[in-house]
Amino acid sequence: MRSTLQTVLFIGACLVADVLGDWRCLGAGGKCQYDLSPSAMSRRGPEGLCNGPSARRCCLPAGREENAERLTNAEALQILRANGMTWSSTGGCNDRNVRSCTSFTGMRRATLVGLVAFKHASKCNIVVTGGTETGHSSGEYSHSKGYKVDIRYYGVNDCVLNFVRRNFNQISNRSDGAMQWRDGSRNTYARESNHWDITYY
Ligand SMILES: [Zn+2]
Repeated sequence: MRSTLQTVLFIGACLVADVLGDWRCLGAGGKCQYDLSPSAMSRRGPEGLCNGPSARRCCLPAGREENAERLTNAEALQILRANGMTWSSTGGCNDRNVRSCTSFTGMRRATLVGLVAFKHASKCNIVVTGGTETGHSSGEYSHSKGYKVDIRYYGVNDCVLNFVRRNFNQISNRSDGAMQWRDGSRNTYARESNHWDITYY
């Protein structure tokens, strides 16, 4: 059983201020802090999510360790805002049961973490136009199952298009003819007429 002292030490370690630039950790719902106490080690986040020396770890609240975790709409909007991204929908709503809405309810945390990473790597303006709402095609790695996100496509000079061309591998077109690129983690970026359909695994 963890002692009260260890719990206090963990909280103490997590009170050290985080710094800007720790977006991987922030995207995962955590905070970067110096890992000062042995008890903090047991709940530290994965390595490589924070800037600075290796003692800086991503402290995740209990239960937030898994990227498979499902987000609430409010949590997702907070992560988007914190990382300079916006969302849009024709209906101006977030209800996942309404086609014209853009909902984040039930999105896998890993999906949003992937988008946050892409945002910071590409430095593109990202407007999310599709999430877990009804009306998309079904399947294992689908919108409704929380694996996909749509972002706006701006045409020939699109920042995302330039970035994926330079940095990702183009793969064969999707069955509907959409051009596709794959990043180093096998996430897929498919270009549709007015948006990118992105799958994060
Ligand atoms: Zn889509």
